[in-house]
Amino acid sequence: MNTVIQLLYLLTAVFFMLGVMRLRSPATARSGNQLAALGMAIALAATLWANHRFAGGALIALAALLGLVVGSAAALKVRMTAMPQMVALFNGMGGGAAALVAAGDWVARGPGGAAGAIAALFTVLVGSVSFSGSLIAFLKLQEWIQGRPIVYPGQKAVSLLLLLVDLAAGVALAAGNLGQGPTPMGLYSLLALLLGIQVVLPIGGADMPVVISLLNAMTGLAAAASGFLLQNQVLIIAGALVGASGTILTQQMSRAMNRPLSNILFGAFGQLRTEGGQAVEGTVQSATVEDVATLLAYARRVIIVPGYGLAVARAQQEVRQLMDKLLQRNVDVRFAIHPVAGRMPGHMNVLLAEADVPYDRLYEMEVINPEFAQTDVALVIGANDVTNPAARTQPSSPLYGMPILNVDQAAHIVVLKRSMNPGFAGVDNPLYLNPKTQMLFGDAKASLTQLLKALDEV
Ligand code: NDP
Repeated sequence: MNTVIQLLYLLTAVFFMLGVMRLRSPATARSGNQLAALGMAIALAATLWANHRFAGGALIALAALLGLVVGSAAALKVRMTAMPQMVALFNGMGGGAAALVAAGDWVARGPGGAAGAIAALFTVLVGSVSFSGSLIAFLKLQEWIQGRPIVYPGQKAVSLLLLLVDLAAGVALAAGNLGQGPTPMGLYSLLALLLGIQVVLPIGGADMPVVISLLNAMTGLAAAASGFLLQNQVLIIAGALVGASGTILTQQMSRAMNRPLSNILFGAFGQLRTEGGQAVEGTVQSATVEDVATLLAYARRVIIVPGYGLAVARAQQEVRQLMDKLLQRNVDVRFAIHPVAGRMPGHMNVLLAEADVPYDRLYEMEVINPEFAQTDVALVIGANDVTNPAARTQPSSPLYGMPILNVDQAAHIVVLKRSMNPGFAGVDNPLYLNPKTQMLFGDAKASLTQLLKALDEV
């Protein structure tokens, strides 16, 4: 039977890897997800079988059923803009589960040798930090607690102290100085939980996607360490995959935002956010729906630049209809996708895929940027920071150095947003003062609906 289990685990590992590989492109991502889910189902079944839990496993069946119902209901119900908090919650559960398994094992069987003790203490520490940190990320994103950085004097020193005390407690636990029962392990876990809360509280709500990606990597490491503890190969492989992909994603996100991870973790960036509009000097040209419809109808090439506001307005179907109408008029329509447009990696791809915008109309930043100079109209819908030319020219700007979409090189620029309010970075956008720019103020969905009507009359 052992060989069969090992083969099933091998199959699972192959499914996981194929799944991750297929997540690299929007065209194959859906099937990648399904493959990985199938791998997980096989892993669960094989583990239960290996542990003879099929017989008399009513409790396990009940737990699985509960998980299935809650997980599927949450996934089906979640709004696209609420996806980051759902990922945070699911990730926290993973970290928490790994920590519970390791803590339970410790209490039941003791440390079991130096390697076992290190694996167990590492899993409990990292898994607990990931659990409580993810919950704080969830609460911030859900706006159940304030999204702005929650800071107080000496915060970093308190975090460092917590970490040091917890590490010392871990050493004492491993040496057997604190006794064996559940209380010392409970205290060790409690300190780690506090550490997770302490580390995430000072980070602004809008930076949470990067933090979640980092916590995701930590959950992966905790799961891999618990795999060592339980001598379960598939847990080691799955954990390592999550750890590695989470780390790569975290790096890619911070690079695309041109912000070192240390700045995200310790910079309290969200504080820069302004609550209302900032004074913008210069002339802003406001356009009517009819102006924009005429401009688009007679253009040869249009590049649509979607951003966070498109997701907020949930106007993806209207954007697709606009694309269809323009294509009928033989206008060349493309979409420019900035790697950090929106609030999570791949946000715009998922949003546009939902409205069946063909993948081959979506162009990554490096590919589309040289095209703007030969484009008649750049139509910016709810995007702000990712188009801000200050990122190229103003060293004092928090966006300075972030690669942006070269929207300002198009012959005409049309921006759909509700006001002159800044975006995530809380800074003004000189693009709106460009003589080539026309602002179409209003909710993106309402503006696009009117635009679709107006296009029929051109
Ligand atoms: P921004 O946050 O810069 O701008 C979004 C704009 O959308 C706002 O200026 C807002 O203006 C407008 N908007 C909001 N609601 C609506 C609506 N209903 N209709 C029309 N417009 C609307 O978004 P971008 O996508 O340009 O940039 C993403 C930012 O998020 C970057 O700074 C990035 O670094 C950051 N980020 C991205 C992550 C990712 O993984 N993608 C993760 C974390 C941060 P107004 O209020 O006037 O309507």
